[in-house]
Amino acid sequence: MSDQQQQYSFFGAVEKSFDKAAKFTKWDKGLLEQIKQCNAVYRMHFPVKIGDQIEVIKAYRVQHSHHKLPCKGGIRFATSVNLDEVMALAALMTYKCAIVNVPFAGAKGGISIDPKKYTPYELEKITRRYTSELIKKNFIGPGIDVPAPDYGTGEREMAWIVDTYASMRPGEIDALGCVTGKPVTQGGVRGRREATGLGVFYGIREVLNMPEVMGKLGLSTGVEGKTVIVQGLGNVGFHAAKFFREGGAKVICIAEHDGAVYNADGINETDLFEHKKQTGSVRNFAGAKTIATSNEALELECDILIPAALENVINGENAPRIKAKIIGEAANGPLTPEADEIFAAKGVLVVPDMYLNAGGVTVSYFEWLKNLSHVRYGRMEKRFTENQNRQMLEQVEASTGKKVTGKIRQEIIHGPEEADLVYSGLEETMITATREIMDAWKANPGIPDMRTAAYVVAINKVGTSYAELGIFP
Ligand code: GLU
Repeated sequence: MSDQQQQYSFFGAVEKSFDKAAKFTKWDKGLLEQIKQCNAVYRMHFPVKIGDQIEVIKAYRVQHSHHKLPCKGGIRFATSVNLDEVMALAALMTYKCAIVNVPFAGAKGGISIDPKKYTPYELEKITRRYTSELIKKNFIGPGIDVPAPDYGTGEREMAWIVDTYASMRPGEIDALGCVTGKPVTQGGVRGRREATGLGVFYGIREVLNMPEVMGKLGLSTGVEGKTVIVQGLGNVGFHAAKFFREGGAKVICIAEHDGAVYNADGINETDLFEHKKQTGSVRNFAGAKTIATSNEALELECDILIPAALENVINGENAPRIKAKIIGEAANGPLTPEADEIFAAKGVLVVPDMYLNAGGVTVSYFEWLKNLSHVRYGRMEKRFTENQNRQMLEQVEASTGKKVTGKIRQEIIHGPEEADLVYSGLEETMITATREIMDAWKANPGIPDMRTAAYVVAINKVGTSYAELGIFP
């Protein structure tokens, strides 16, 4: 850990938020302490031959809690990965899963490498070796601990993980459920790729539909016409921007690590993504103004700011200059506790990470269920539902003498496919979680912000789970 990281502990920030919320719960000290701690920490070093050199790779897997099984959480590839960060992210996973009623305990993994420095072949070797280290220590398995993508990893890495696991555990019928976020051809589920960004959209949309909350912020209700700034054009930021644009908002600025682009009439994220693919940067995007740094972009006038990159980007230093009325934490830990206090005092609504970005793990849960049930969603009922819908429509048509045609006819008859069910399951999950957090906040006006309310909900659910296990009568 560098000196700077030593001074600023991400896990310490999570603990601080936890303590702030714990005061509003009824649990005794011992139980709260048990919820807070990371139960199991596995730090490993392993050798991988890169070219003709042996490189010693440092990696981690942290299981924050075991109040439910399996443990669940992504794997991150970045040079900044360190134990403190993995512990903090694992803890956030416990609270995240509790809030959205996904029956997992939190975990997180990371490999301290810069994935851009390696060829796909070398990355495959590193990923497979990491997986076999997890297998050796019983830190992976459909009923033990189920990784997923995170910063610097994606479907490709998940495919390597499942292949390594399945070949080292021959005959294990549920082997596909050892990891989520896989390509659809390797046991993945439709809708997982866009799930986190879509969940961010559903969560903010629900908040925007609350007249009381909007009244306090001086905003009209609804997504239509709202101005949005997104930081990060990775998987989460890209999809969040896409769903906001499609929902009628104006995404006026998109920022990346090397600068940002601004257009008051809105930016099309798909065109910008193409531009970035071709030029290597978002800068100089046709029709938009280039802004020198990502930090400057965060401080521009807007209704909603979506940090969708890394942690600690908004802190005590820049928070006073931020003009957004709502901050939607699509990334994990983008705000420090100091920033939280500044925004609470300014009356800015911070919609917290561990609930707002829970779309990823929610759809991971759907993928895991699909793997365990060995059947694609919609396979059994799609045609049956369509036949029923058609018969019903024909009855209505016969009794009214009117014929329904074209797109509306198709929509009425259409039986659910996998993506339809995944989207509707996610929408329901995000709406219910938003309301539950807002109700907890309303029930206790002493709670200072939405993050604390979310922690209260999470702590109560994990606490109940422990209490029901009889560990803390
Ligand atoms: N890495 C994602 C997160 O932080 C997804 C985790 C998962 O799907 O298990 O929520």
